[in-house]
Amino acid sequence: MSTVRPMVRAILALGSNLGERQGTLHSAVAELVDLPEVRLQNVSPVVTTKPVGGPAGQPDFLNMVIAIDTRLSPEELLAHCQAVELAHHRIREVRWAARTLDVDIISYGDVHSDDPVLTLPHPRAAERAFVLYPWSLMDPNATLEGQSVADLAASAADMPGITHAQDIAAVQKAAPFSE
Ligand code: ATP
Ligand code: CA
Ligand code: CA
Repeated sequence: MSTVRPMVRAILALGSNLGERQGTLHSAVAELVDLPEVRLQNVSPVVTTKPVGGPAGQPDFLNMVIAIDTRLSPEELLAHCQAVELAHHRIREVRWAARTLDVDIISYGDVHSDDPVLTLPHPRAAERAFVLYPWSLMDPNATLEGQSVADLAASAADMPGITHAQDIAAVQKAAPFSE
């Protein structure tokens, strides 16, 4: 008898600062949830953010987060995220350089991992307004490691670099929430 793994809530962060950024994010969400093992549960607004780290002179990022319920293992989910990145022609050359699409796993249930291949929760999420702020807009009560995501966003150094938030209607149209 095969055992069916239970659904686990995961938070994914998406970023794009090259090409058709908005269209890339919308199709990436649709592709990320286009598996029977993945159900879209919530979508944040898209925020515009100044790049943090990496080479100077990069274009602004569009960033958003989504909440999914998934039966994929953490490793399977990472492989799936990387396949979606690859489908958008992400070339991994210089770390933190401009990219068409970046998908990070921010948290996977309450799993903790120190493995550099998949560190959970994401080791830099707690200090990144470009992750925390859209997450707090999606879920004002969200917590990360017992701390309020909204409070963490408010004290993040890159919060002033966030210029505006867009509506989620277009993303919802591209990838409707699961029933
Ligand atoms: P950062 O991790 O600081 O956001 P980045 O997203 O630019 O930087 P990448 O080049 O996309 O970094 O990823 C480098 C490696 O990070 C990946 O190959 C992956 O194995 C690893 N990694 C570790 N933890 C995670 C995680 N929680 N989500 C996604 N990738 C992770
Ligand atoms: Ca990243
Ligand atoms: Ca990444």
